[in-house]
Amino acid sequence: MDQEIGTAKHTKTFQIMETILVLAHTENNGALAKSAREALHASATLHKSLAGSKLVVGLIGDNVQIAANSIAACLATKYFGVTGADFSQSRYATDATAAEAICKAAQATVVVAPATSRWARVLPGVAARLGGRADTHVTGVAAADGKISVNRWYYRQRMEGLLTRTQRPWLIGIDPGSQTPCDCGAGTAMVEMVLVNLTDAARRTTVVGIREPKADAQTIRPDAQLLFVTGAGWTKKQADGQTHLPEAEKLILGFLKQSRASLGSSKSLVDQSGEGQAVLPFLSHLNQVGQTGATPRHAKGLSTCCHGEEPHTVGWRFIGERRAISLDPNCGWARGKADVLYVADAFAVIAKVNELLAAAGMA
Ligand SMILES: Cc1cc2nc3c(=O)[nH]c(=O)nc-3n(C[C@H](O)[C@H](O)[C@H](O)COP(=O)(O)OP(=O)(O)OC[C@H]3O[C@@H](n4cnc5c(N)ncnc54)[C@H](O)[C@@H]3O)c2cc1C
Repeated sequence: MDQEIGTAKHTKTFQIMETILVLAHTENNGALAKSAREALHASATLHKSLAGSKLVVGLIGDNVQIAANSIAACLATKYFGVTGADFSQSRYATDATAAEAICKAAQATVVVAPATSRWARVLPGVAARLGGRADTHVTGVAAADGKISVNRWYYRQRMEGLLTRTQRPWLIGIDPGSQTPCDCGAGTAMVEMVLVNLTDAARRTTVVGIREPKADAQTIRPDAQLLFVTGAGWTKKQADGQTHLPEAEKLILGFLKQSRASLGSSKSLVDQSGEGQAVLPFLSHLNQVGQTGATPRHAKGLSTCCHGEEPHTVGWRFIGERRAISLDPNCGWARGKADVLYVADAFAVIAKVNELLAAAGMA
């Protein structure tokens, strides 16, 4: 396969008939996550723009029939499955073996998978096993003149790159949240089971459980419409010369509860616990947005008590509409980082917003 592609590069007359495989794992309830539907949508769009290409789906999980049926009306011509209790949990050895087997059975030349934490750690290893290549953090896949290209961001989302590859199979991890999820209908899908012989070594790692914050303590909500960012100003002395931490906590948690927004933070605020200062206990470094934090994707963002410096706002690259509330009219937000800046006291604004949300909720 690699040789053929090498020849194609030189003669320019040979065009690969790509087989695009969408690789997905099922969730605990047997269904497909939104990120898997995003990968499917990107793959179906690619398939439509590549003459002669085939679209197939590969699923792994305890049982994949529910997931396959849920997308039965998509453009895929074949469904492959690796099933059984061994494949219900995320585990490198079993996931990599299953993915490798499906790629071979499907004779896939392009493999598109959602870059969930489960697939992200497996894809490069599978590419190595198959003599292919893997690209991660992909935010777009397209084809022109029979040539596939992907785009992704570099240097903490400051530069966007477009790249193509001749090497096959090409494994592509699509960043969740970067695509429109497919809305193809359900039906009955025929799944061709791929048998996988697991060695004892592959089962050596046992998943004994998952530790995660309680549902009401989970403030990071990737699917939320709004990102609500808190900055160090919430813990600073206010006009009366005093700090107002309990009030800040009440206002922020009240807003999150009513809006179901995802909570982000500036680095200065999450760093304070390490400095022994008074802190907001529900914030951790996982909430940090920016150069050394996360780059979340939400339709809207509202920043409060945050200065909007470049190392922070670079993490707002994928936020659609940006608004900020800061006392400082010369803050970074005012210098082109926000669409709307409210020069106001965030304590007063959020108290009023919470009041309005509560009233709207009661209506
Ligand atoms: C290598 C490097 C990497 C970094 N990475 C990151 C990163 O990933 N993420 C990040 O966030 N930062 C990062 N930083 C730090 C960044 O440069 C800023 O120092 C940080 O973002 C400032 O946080 P802040 O705006 O919350 O705090 P401050 O700069 O202290 O700003 C607080 C703001 O709150 C306002 N304020 C106070 N009270 C109120 C009120 N009642 N109502 C409204 N506004 C009020 C003030 O006017 C002020 O503008 C990095 C820095 C470096 C050097």
